[in-house]
Amino acid sequence: MTGQAHPEWDASYAAGTPAPWDIGRPQPAFVRLADEGRLTGRLLDAGCGTGENALLAASRGADVTGIDVAPTAIARARAKASERGLTARFEVADALDPGRLSLTADTVIDSGVFHVFGDDDRARYVASLAAVLRPAGACYLMCFSDRQPGTWGPRRVRADELRAAFSDGWAVESITADTFEINPMDAATRVQAWLAAIRRN
Ligand code: SAH
Repeated sequence: MTGQAHPEWDASYAAGTPAPWDIGRPQPAFVRLADEGRLTGRLLDAGCGTGENALLAASRGADVTGIDVAPTAIARARAKASERGLTARFEVADALDPGRLSLTADTVIDSGVFHVFGDDDRARYVASLAAVLRPAGACYLMCFSDRQPGTWGPRRVRADELRAAFSDGWAVESITADTFEINPMDAATRVQAWLAAIRRN
């Protein structure tokens, strides 16, 4: 799929009911990271969707680039930036192939993207992040967790899978239980997540 259109992702942003994850505000976990002063420098939001976490970082002074394969999501993110008077770059681009952006980041954030990839793409994704992140740069990644009961939603990720994915050339500093807020579909409006803080060697 790399380098090709991703109509299935774009369709999830088509008019109508917003996608479960597209909550119209930043994820609380990323607000906490911003409050801790961690969303700084040249920041890449990989798979930024409609840009809420990226715009949060921009509002706190980071030099932000958001990328996503869904053109509709990128168009919304650009519109939000201009409505809010914030400066951030939003580009349609594949996070498995970010080389074309010729971007070097001090910080990378991932809210709900790692867990969409199958095993092969997972390895490519981690290599792509390593290619854009400067040495000693930080990656903050939140993914669906195996602690989430049931089968609804994306693939569950275990903490040991995260450690394995980032075992070569990275230092996993913490993996903590957290939650995603999602749009209400039933009684549960939060789902179990892992929030990982990972530093590139
Ligand atoms: N980070 C956003 C969106 C999470 S949903 C948020 O928190 O709201 C997963 C996102 O990953 C979708 O927007 C989807 O279009 C995007 N995506 C999927 N595969 C991708 C790829 N290879 N490169 C970049 N974005 C991708």
